[in-house]
Amino acid sequence: MAKKTEVKDYIRTIVDFPHEGILFRDVTTLFADPRGFRMAIDQMLHSYAGERIDKVIGLEARGFILGGAIAHQLSVGFVPVRKKGKLPGTTISEEYKLEYGEAIVEIHDDAIQPGEKILLVDDLLATGGTAEAGIKLVERLGGEIIGCVFIIDLPDLGGRKRLENLGMDVTVLCE
Ligand code: 5GP
Repeated sequence: MAKKTEVKDYIRTIVDFPHEGILFRDVTTLFADPRGFRMAIDQMLHSYAGERIDKVIGLEARGFILGGAIAHQLSVGFVPVRKKGKLPGTTISEEYKLEYGEAIVEIHDDAIQPGEKILLVDDLLATGGTAEAGIKLVERLGGEIIGCVFIIDLPDLGGRKRLENLGMDVTVLCE
């Protein structure tokens, strides 16, 4: 087997998951590999070295795994953005469009203090709808997003442009 030298080498594609016609990028193989996982976390942090980051926001669910590791590395707090109905405290919510229908994500209303510098983390950027909802939640609480970082970008779906049009700094490790 060829030696794995890049983050991309640790990601596999599953055909027809969760529906026929979908090529699902499976990052569990990356997370399960000690070198792959470390490489991904190191590269995700690389472009923000030296910047002030007060909190890391992770988008459900794989953003929790990445965001938790990044927050630990930075010695800052981690805040989850979760699907509706999962957070126990008082929340604010944002609705956004999916390919079929809508979804709602939430954040605890006391999780971010005004002026805090936030790094937003998820595994994959497709249309950018999920990330945009996360950005809106953070901004409604007065947080300032200093960057949005993902392992994978699916450029045909336009998420990166969508976030850059919102003024976001976007970092992706591979396509
Ligand atoms: P978007 O909102 O940008 O259209 O979709 C991104 C969200 O859907 C992310 O939270 C991401 O985890 C999930 N997602 C969509 N397609 C895939 C995929 O092929 N692989 C993985 N790992 N996540 C995906």
